[in-house]
Amino acid sequence: MTEMVLASHNAKKIEEVKRILERTLPDIRLLSLSDIGCEGEIEETGETFEENAIIKASVPASLGYIGIADDSGLSVDYLGGAPGVTSARYAGDGCTPADCREKLLEVMKDVPAQDRGAGFVSVMALCLPENSAIKIPIGYAISEELAAASGRKRELTLTVRGECRGVITDRETGTGGFGYDVLFMSDDLGMTFGQATAAQKDAVSHRGRSLDAFSRVLGEIFGGIE
Ligand code: IMP
Repeated sequence: MTEMVLASHNAKKIEEVKRILERTLPDIRLLSLSDIGCEGEIEETGETFEENAIIKASVPASLGYIGIADDSGLSVDYLGGAPGVTSARYAGDGCTPADCREKLLEVMKDVPAQDRGAGFVSVMALCLPENSAIKIPIGYAISEELAAASGRKRELTLTVRGECRGVITDRETGTGGFGYDVLFMSDDLGMTFGQATAAQKDAVSHRGRSLDAFSRVLGEIFGGIE
C-alpha cells in the first residue's frame, strides 16, 4: 500500500479525487493534509495552474510524503481566460462561491450565446520527496521552464492536465456540485454540472480527465498497478 497526501482542505474535492483515484489505483491510500497534521492554508502564488498545483503538492513532499495536488479553475473565452487561476477568489479576497457566480453572471449578462464558451481546467501534480527512491522518467517529468519557475527537480515532479468545454449559462441551473458547476453547461453532457450526478460529471470533467491520465502515469511509475 503506497500512501500519498492530497494537498487540499476542500472536503468535496478530496472526496472527488479519492473516488476517482482509488477506483483505478486500489493499492494507493490517499491521506489529506489534516491527516498529517498540516492545518494551515497554502498560498497559491503561481501564475499558471501547473505552478499552483506544484506549490501545493510540494508541501507534503517537503515533509517526506509523496504529495499530490490539483489546481483547477474556469477559463472563460470572452474574458480572455479569466477567472483562471483566480477562480476561487474571483469576487475578491474572502468571497464565497456564490459571490463568484454572481459576479460572473453580472459580467456576462449582455454577452450573446455564441460568445459564452468556456473551459474547466484541472492540473494534477505529483511531487516526490527529496529522498525518494522512485524517480520520474524524463518523458513524464516537468519541462525545464516549469522546473525553473517552480524551483523543483524534474526527476521528482510531474504534472498532467485535463480540460472540458461548455457554455456559461445566464442563470443557475441544478443544485449539485460546487463552485461554478450550476453555471457550466457541459458540451459533453448537454446539462450543467450542477444537474449531473457525480458519476456523469466524473466521466467528462476536467478533473475526471486529468485524474484518469494521472492514474495511468502513477500506475506506470509505481509499477504493477493498472
Ligand atoms: P483551486 O483548484 O482549489 O485553487 O480552486 C479552483 C476553483 O475553481 C474552485 O474554487 C471553483 O471556484 C472552481 N472550480 C474548479 N473545479 C471546479 C468544478 O469541478 N466545478 C465547479 N467549480 C470548479
